[in-house]
Amino acid sequence: MQRKDIRNIAIIAHVDHGKTTLVDQLLKYSGTFRENEQVDDRAMDSGDIERERGITILAKNTAVKYEDTTINILDTPGHADFGGEVERIMKMVDGVALVVDAYEGTMPQTRFVLKKALEQKLRPMVVVNKVDRPNARPEEVIDEVLDLFIELGADDEQLEFPVVYASALNGTSGLEPDQQEETMDPIFETIMKHIPAPIDNSDEPLQFQVTLLDYNDYVGRIGVGRVARGKIHVGQQVVLMKQDGTNKSYRISKLFGFLGLKRIEIEEASAGEIVAVSGLEDINIGETVCPKDHPEALPWLRIDEPTLQMT
Ligand code: GDP
Repeated sequence: MQRKDIRNIAIIAHVDHGKTTLVDQLLKYSGTFRENEQVDDRAMDSGDIERERGITILAKNTAVKYEDTTINILDTPGHADFGGEVERIMKMVDGVALVVDAYEGTMPQTRFVLKKALEQKLRPMVVVNKVDRPNARPEEVIDEVLDLFIELGADDEQLEFPVVYASALNGTSGLEPDQQEETMDPIFETIMKHIPAPIDNSDEPLQFQVTLLDYNDYVGRIGVGRVARGKIHVGQQVVLMKQDGTNKSYRISKLFGFLGLKRIEIEEASAGEIVAVSGLEDINIGETVCPKDHPEALPWLRIDEPTLQMT
């Protein structure tokens, strides 16, 4: 059975092709974004502060509501130095939206991130952005994108990628470059139709793997990840399975979901949801949270960022 109320998608692109602008429009058109919130303060670009503090959470989770579905949109760093992080983010999602500039076409980071997504067997969709540019050449760009998919070894299903044309700057999108409407619905509809919904296995014992780390002065270390199966709730007694094979017992003190650009406290989450957990003091990337009577670790994750180690 699948959960119709969730979609998890990563947004991938070469730098400056318009990821940030597009996510802001998705927030705006979905009504998730409240009028008094400032787009400029958005968390997506807070990488410098985090790096200064020695924490690698360049990726950001934005959640938008479309009809009754929560769409988690995970930003990915395009830079090759963060290959491990890109891979880990892709383990949390079921599909990717590849954003490509309608004039520039495919670029080195387009190739780098698309390769990772295709390797992980994720379902792709393509957004050809900036169709408003006077020198835009969307048809040629789609040919380039298709060539890149073939070159990178996309499977038959991946080659069937749907395409949406957009001007994130103007807040328009459409299924044809010259039929732009002032709405992001074509993008939302494409996500709903083509990005697989998570499998609902919330009856099974909990498995939650920490994919990204965050930190905040109030609650300390925060582990972000996808509930792989089962349910997680505040107050739950769990074990944290460490890489060295030892287990540590903890109680989940706080749980957060995502809404818009914010983390919101929640009581419970189940399979398929992306959540942040606090109360597990020395939580690390790759570790699995399980019930005590069902300690079953998920396969270890690749971590290769130079800035990852926290002291
Ligand atoms: P990111 O690096 O992928 O997050 O790209 P940004 O969203 O920051 O956009 C990079 C630049 O492209 C900014 O100056 C945007 O205003 C501009 N931009 C984004 N979307 C569009 C678009 O649809 N049309 C045009 N003409 N410019 C755009």
